[in-house]
Amino acid sequence: MTARELKAAVRPLDFYRAEIPTMPAPKISRAWTDGGLCPFHEDRRRGSFWINLETGAFHCFACGASGGDILAFAQQRHELTFPEAMQAIADAWGLSA
Ligand SMILES: [Zn+2]
Repeated sequence: MTARELKAAVRPLDFYRAEIPTMPAPKISRAWTDGGLCPFHEDRRRGSFWINLETGAFHCFACGASGGDILAFAQQRHELTFPEAMQAIADAWGLSA
C-alpha cells in the first residue's frame, strides 16, 4: 500500500476523531475545522488547533505544530518514522499495508 492509497482509505475526519477525543463535530462546509485540544502542547482551551478535513493537514497557532497529512500527524504525535506511521495507521484501520 502506498501513502496515497492509505490516505485515500482513511478519512481525515475519522482519523482525527479517533486521535483527539476533544475534537468537536465539524462545520461541514469548511475544509479547516476546530481540532479540539492540541495534542502537542499543554492545551486547556480549544481554538488553537485546526485540522483540514480535505487534506488531513493540521496546524496549531499556539505551539506551531503542523504537518501536511495524517501520516505527518502520526509521526509527530507518536514519534514514529514514516514507515512506522504507515504501518500503525494501516493496522489501526484494518488495511493491509
Ligand atoms: Zn499546540
